Amino acid sequence: MTPFVFPGISTRVVFGEGTLAQTGDELRRLGASHALVLTTPEQDAAGETLAKQLGDLAAGTFAEAAMHTPVEVTARALDAYDAAGADCVVALGGGSTIGLGKAIATRRGCDQVAIPTTYAGSEMTDILGETENGEKTTRRDPSIRPETVIYDVALTLDLPVDMSVKSALNAAAHAVEAIYAPDANPVTTLMSLDALRAIKAALPDLRKSPRDAQIRARLLYGAWLCSTALGYVAMSLHHKLAHVVGGSFDMPHANTHAILLPHTAHFNETGTAALDPVAEIFGGSVGGGLWDLAEASGAPLRLADLGLSEADLDRASEIALKNEYENPRPFDQKDIRDLLQAAWEGRRPDA
Ligand code: NAD
Repeated sequence: MTPFVFPGISTRVVFGEGTLAQTGDELRRLGASHALVLTTPEQDAAGETLAKQLGDLAAGTFAEAAMHTPVEVTARALDAYDAAGADCVVALGGGSTIGLGKAIATRRGCDQVAIPTTYAGSEMTDILGETENGEKTTRRDPSIRPETVIYDVALTLDLPVDMSVKSALNAAAHAVEAIYAPDANPVTTLMSLDALRAIKAALPDLRKSPRDAQIRARLLYGAWLCSTALGYVAMSLHHKLAHVVGGSFDMPHANTHAILLPHTAHFNETGTAALDPVAEIFGGSVGGGLWDLAEASGAPLRLADLGLSEADLDRASEIALKNEYENPRPFDQKDIRDLLQAAWEGRRPDA
């Protein structure tokens, strides 16, 4: 057996339907008495309702969370936090809102309760990506990880289907890379495999029954597992490529992940036995099975549809080779160029 380190899982998790009502109890458990409730402008009403339910436990609301955690938004949020005399934050929303909660918590040393409403999976991690003058920097630190996460299936029932599908495939990408991560351990691997089973079982039926609580519960359960795995291991080729295509060519983050995943997984399944249990889940082919899942779920399949030109693929493969990073299978520029070509055309890998 390969030696491993299991660092433990430090975040308390409350999972169920209607669990939002337990937010007050969870705050008291942390010893907090003045929580600043964070949302995006779009989820403002949900934040106000939660603050009302919390009564004296709420110090106020701040509804300006934005994609990629811009530092100027964090500065305004810190002013609001200080002015309200807050002693903790409650982040109600997707990865953007949870990112803002992390940015405040790491600067003020306060506790956080994260209440995710998408499957993106920031809530269980010690990772914070922030943007300043258009530049994104990412760091890891124990002070960034939320103390408590409340998963409430009811909050996900109205998450638009297209966003749900992309968000779930984004989560699946964390699970796939966690399995062959250089610092993987048996617990993150077990979690990742069960996450992939849950997502595979639930995602294709979502479009037919978007408000089915059983389907939503399975997806949220899968999202929890994916986020946990992401929070304890390093990511490889897939995340690097998604970052290059998304960042350097301004392609939408979730679509890019969803489209690339079958292709990066296909490339790596031929380089590591670690993905063999994933192949079992996906009918013998990780890349082919993930592509079938994406197609059956109505996910985007072609980078060409995002507006990326074929000529951009040369530059993307050059940029992708600039930095060294761990990957179970070695690659050169031609490998990356071929992988991107397949993703650009939307071909089923393994075909
Ligand atoms: P998001 O948080 O930006 O949300 C997108 C929009 O959907 C927002 O307007 C939001 O208010 C709305 N929304 C959220 N939940 C909803 C719901 N249930 N119903 C209706 N509308 C809803 O998007 P996201 O995909 O959750 O997060 C993406 C961000 O998270 C990216 O910046 C990404 O880098 C980050 N992320 C970080 C980590 C990490 O570990 N640091 C992990 C994963 C993602």
